[in-house]
Amino acid sequence: MALRTIRIDGDPILTKNCREVTKMTPTLSTLIDDMFETMYDANGVGLAAPQVGILRRIVVIDVTGEDPLVLVNPKIIEQDGEQTGEEGCLSLPGKCGIVTRPMHVKVEAQDRDMNRMIVEAEGLLARCCCHEIDHLDGHMYTEKVEGDLQDVSYDDEDEEIEE
Ligand code: ZN
Repeated sequence: MALRTIRIDGDPILTKNCREVTKMTPTLSTLIDDMFETMYDANGVGLAAPQVGILRRIVVIDVTGEDPLVLVNPKIIEQDGEQTGEEGCLSLPGKCGIVTRPMHVKVEAQDRDMNRMIVEAEGLLARCCCHEIDHLDGHMYTEKVEGDLQDVSYDDEDEEIEE
């Protein structure tokens, strides 16, 4: 496994649409391992492939540090409720902002063996799924932020959620 370089806001790759994965390959499997390593190293809870420069529909998430989740070709098929809270992004270090997201989402995806699965997510996991799937369509949370972006204060840094 290896750390990958996280692309920073302003990099055109973060505005592009990602291609579907039709077949799991050793290269993509290594990418998934590297994405987890890169996400954990940066203290993030989610990372999308374009954030490491790869335009494929792959997301990794772990909101507890003990529940690694790989989503290949994820799609939100149902959503309801609403949550408004602070969100950050590993591609925009040191910043956060207020974003409203659905409270519950149902995500259809494939796992790393390309088996179809459904993930029922709520709260932080739902927020994270929405944030990461937006990356696959070239969108950043800053397009949805309410009010101004804030600087993350160092005192609170351990509590920040960065995706
Ligand atoms: Zn992000």
